[in-house]
Amino acid sequence: MQVQIADGCIACNVCESICPEVFAVHDVCEADNSAIQGHEAACRQAAQECPVFVILIEE
Ligand code: SF4
Repeated sequence: MQVQIADGCIACNVCESICPEVFAVHDVCEADNSAIQGHEAACRQAAQECPVFVILIEE
């Protein structure tokens, strides 16, 4: 799995609160693709709950 963050993140922190192992929100969100293993379900949940749907999951 790979996670990309598209343009348009509003830095709401939802993803980081769901999966802090992968997502880190500063000015915008950054995803650490090296940390996804074991957190795939949380990454999918973050993508579903992102209010602007900028978390892109590639399986
Ligand atoms: S949930 Fe979406 S909008 Fe909110 S910080 Fe994460 S990527 Fe950005």
